[in-house]
Amino acid sequence: MLLAALLPTRCAGCGAPGPSPCARCARLVARAPDGPVPPGLAACRSLVAYDGLGRALVTALKYRRDRAALGWTASGMAALLAPPPGTVVTWAPTTAARRRRRGFDQAELLARAVARRWRLPCRPLLDRRSGPPQTGRPLAERRTGPRFVARPGARRLAGGRPVVLVDDVVTTGSTLAAAARALAVAGPATVVGLTAARTPPPATSPRSVSARLREVEDSSQVTAGSGR
Ligand SMILES: [Zn+2]
Repeated sequence: MLLAALLPTRCAGCGAPGPSPCARCARLVARAPDGPVPPGLAACRSLVAYDGLGRALVTALKYRRDRAALGWTASGMAALLAPPPGTVVTWAPTTAARRRRRGFDQAELLARAVARRWRLPCRPLLDRRSGPPQTGRPLAERRTGPRFVARPGARRLAGGRPVVLVDDVVTTGSTLAAAARALAVAGPATVVGLTAARTPPPATSPRSVSARLREVEDSSQVTAGSGR
C-alpha cells in the first residue's frame, strides 16, 4: 500500500499520468441516469452512469483498488446526500469468493471513504451468504437477489437510526432491495441507498456511449488545435 502511494497515478478514464480521473474525464463523465428506487429504500442516489468513462472509473475501483479514483468517487457520492446526525453508514458486502480474490471489498472501501467525509460511523451490518449456485435455485428465488443477513449487533448499532447503504453499482436494484430487506430486522429509521454508478436503461445505453465518445473526440480536437 505504501508502494502504491509512491507510484505515479494515471487517469482511469484515458490513462493520462496524473489525477484519476483527469480534469477532462471528470468533466466528461456522464451523471447517473434517474431510475426507480429499489423496494425497501426511502431514496437511492448514484454518482455516474455505468457506461463509458463512469464504467472505467468503477472498474478501476473493483480490480485495481485505484486510490485516486476512490477519493474522487467518494467525494462525489458524499456530496449527493446530507445525512442527519446519528446516521450509520454501511455497505452491501460482495461475495466471500470475490473478496478473497481481490483482497478487499470495493463497496466497503466506498462506504468507509464516504463516511469519513461525513464524519459519520461506518459499521458492518450485513453478512452475505454464499448459498447454492444461482442456477440450482428456483427462478422466483433467483429474482430476489443475493441473500444477506443482518449481523449480530446490527440492531444495537442501527436500530431507530437512519442508515445509508452503499454499493458500487445499481442495475436492477435487486441487490440493494435484498440488503434493505435484511437490514429491516435491525429496525433502522430509514434506509437510503447510495452507489457510485447506475446502469443506464438498455434502450438509451448505446446512444449515450456514442454521444460521450463524440464529446471526447471533439474535445481532443480542441486540445490538438491549442497546440498540445
Ligand atoms: Zn482522463
